Amino acid sequence: MSTSTSVIGFPRIGAQRELKKAIEGYWKGKLDLDSVRETARSLRSEHWNLQKEAGIDLIPSNDFSYYDQMLDTAILLNVVPRRYAALGLGPEDTLFAMGRGYQGDQGDVTALPMKKWFTTNYHYLVPEIDADTHVELAGSKPFDEYQEAKDQGIATKPVVIGPYTFLKLARGPEGERIEPGQDLVSALSKAYADIIRRFADLGADWVQLDEPYLVLDKEDGDLDLFRNLYRAILPARQGGEGYVRILLQTYFGHVGDCLACINELGFDGIGLDLVEGRDENLAALKEHGVKQGTTVFAGLVNGRNIWRNNYAVSLGILDAVRQVTSDVVVSTASSLLHVPFTVRNEEGLDAKTVRPHFAFAVEKLDELHDLAILAAVDDEEKKDSRVLADNQRLFDGTRVERDQAVSNRLDALDEQDFVRQPARAERQRIQAEELGLPDLPTTTIGSFPQTAEVRSYRARLRKKEISQEEYDGFIASQIDQVIDHQERIGLDVLVHGEFERNDMVEYFGQNLNGYLFTKNAWVQSYGTRCVKPPIVWGDVSRARPITVRWSSYAQSRTKHVVKGMLTGPVTILNWSWPREDITHEEQTRQLALAIRDEVLDLEAAGIKVIQIDEAALREKLPLRRSDWHTGYLDWAVPAFRLVHSAVKPTTQIHTHMCYSEFNDIIKDIDAMDADVISFEASRSDLTVLDAIQEAHFETEAGPGVYDIHSPRIPSEEEIVERIHAILDKLDARKVWINPDCGLKTRGNEETWPSLEHMVAAAKLVREEL
Ligand code: GLN
Ligand code: ZN
Repeated sequence: MSTSTSVIGFPRIGAQRELKKAIEGYWKGKLDLDSVRETARSLRSEHWNLQKEAGIDLIPSNDFSYYDQMLDTAILLNVVPRRYAALGLGPEDTLFAMGRGYQGDQGDVTALPMKKWFTTNYHYLVPEIDADTHVELAGSKPFDEYQEAKDQGIATKPVVIGPYTFLKLARGPEGERIEPGQDLVSALSKAYADIIRRFADLGADWVQLDEPYLVLDKEDGDLDLFRNLYRAILPARQGGEGYVRILLQTYFGHVGDCLACINELGFDGIGLDLVEGRDENLAALKEHGVKQGTTVFAGLVNGRNIWRNNYAVSLGILDAVRQVTSDVVVSTASSLLHVPFTVRNEEGLDAKTVRPHFAFAVEKLDELHDLAILAAVDDEEKKDSRVLADNQRLFDGTRVERDQAVSNRLDALDEQDFVRQPARAERQRIQAEELGLPDLPTTTIGSFPQTAEVRSYRARLRKKEISQEEYDGFIASQIDQVIDHQERIGLDVLVHGEFERNDMVEYFGQNLNGYLFTKNAWVQSYGTRCVKPPIVWGDVSRARPITVRWSSYAQSRTKHVVKGMLTGPVTILNWSWPREDITHEEQTRQLALAIRDEVLDLEAAGIKVIQIDEAALREKLPLRRSDWHTGYLDWAVPAFRLVHSAVKPTTQIHTHMCYSEFNDIIKDIDAMDADVISFEASRSDLTVLDAIQEAHFETEAGPGVYDIHSPRIPSEEEIVERIHAILDKLDARKVWINPDCGLKTRGNEETWPSLEHMVAAAKLVREEL
């Protein structure tokens, strides 16, 4: 007898990123839709079978997606804005139009806004609800996939994003939050009741409704909304044919403030994250218990990191749950979407000393299975368990030696190391003189298109098909071209284009001590985009100068200012797999010292503007407001200051963020004490500009004037309009003109015309000043 096991969701992109390749092949016109559908079908089947073979009892279905599960849910619920439906495209193409915009024979529409999924680096598309939206069950994807698995002999647990989370994340046409009226709430709960009833009829045993939004702080009316939705949905469990159990699945934190309400409604199962929300969830369980007949899905296996599960610790947590109820299922703590596929093929990691420390999605299945077996045996048997002993050995003793030089440097820091002199207003005067830039200076975020040619040179270098000299010659020629092109179109602050970098984190990691790299450990970031985070294995320090060579080369090719380009410590850590044996704070400080060395070397090499990207600072902001400062900002913001505090007053420090949801932490962003910040602003509402205005934000700001996540070329008029909207709110003397983000994922065909329109728009508005 063992305890049952459940997986919340499984990666869908494929062990070799098959789904990405198929879909991108289709977009390029190289594959037809049928072959995309076939790839999708075979991936689903493979993933279900892997889970079945690993002995998982509750295997998810409908966790598959061509692009994003929020987008799928919107389509399922008929939340498709008219402009997309009006294109008259087939179902997949409509979905892709919503996900990435469409420009072609059928029309010209931008994509839906995209936002980070809670504290992950995954991005979801924001459903848009307007006055015309008629919410109803309009699709069959979850039922089709359930049936598809059933036809293969696998009874799955269908997964759908729950109505509360859906509604809380949906926005109005201007990006505004929605105050759902009774009609909307009724229509939505009716649609979900229909979904549940259909599953009851199809014979499903469980349906999992994902409600991660429950782990956020509640505002007035939130719990009433939650209650109203579910009171109308739960009765549908009894379909015409049978009863389907509803699992209310939460993750990424705790539900301490609503467990009582959840109990009152009476779910068949509650999924609790006992990794990220452990203490609070356990305390809430102890205080409120669970309703008779409710199964607790104990989220023990981390879906957010790749280190081996510590079985003894997990079994301890499980014991604590069992003091409240014996009706327990062993589960992942979140979807496994956020970890790579398998560690098995990572030959670059030593099979004896390194690989055993890691568990990716496939290995986590075995961990669930092991835990379920261990959970069912008594203490005597546990003592004899080889599995447990082998696991324990991974955590005994020291995995890595500490680097004493790093600790000594950190110990020697004092307060002055975190403060840049002179004050910012004074610096801004000095820099205006030094740099001599026009009003509304134009620039880009750093990278230029990573063309097939660029990637093939890198691949050939890796395979040693070309020499380092040939490769370097190629990079130099790319820089020559991009500098020349930027000069020709009239940008003010130039960049070197980042052609030498595969990625803004891995490239840095390769020049840091303490890092490990994988070959194939890809994780979906948005749509078909995947990232491959490096692993922090030991104490971190800079092994050698990282960016100095190419930045100074680029500067030597032009009289214009070239901006040096670095990734900041918070982002490097957030986009790496962090260690679990020391704190994030300590790891970030180690990284800050390494990047500080780089900043000073760049400055010494004559680089006058240095951008330190903190693209991921916001995404790790704790979900609960009470944890924002003590749990994060109180060390993340000083770590950024440590990086740049020692530069000369004339050196202009920029930072960049890939989003604009920082209204609530605007003071903290300002406290990073950068001279200039660029951020995403073209896909989202512009309330951040109000916040900047109200906060007397000192940092000069470049709100992105067009969306680079879509291949669409914005017109000059469109950008002029955008700049006007920005100048309505911000002081023109403190505004920069730039795109949303780096251009590496774009093609040259759309990049240069877009930038020409941007520069022309800036010139036009400049003359009006
Ligand atoms: N400098 C980086 C680039 O342009 C920033 C990328 C990012 O913000 N994600 O690619
Ligand atoms: Zn960005």
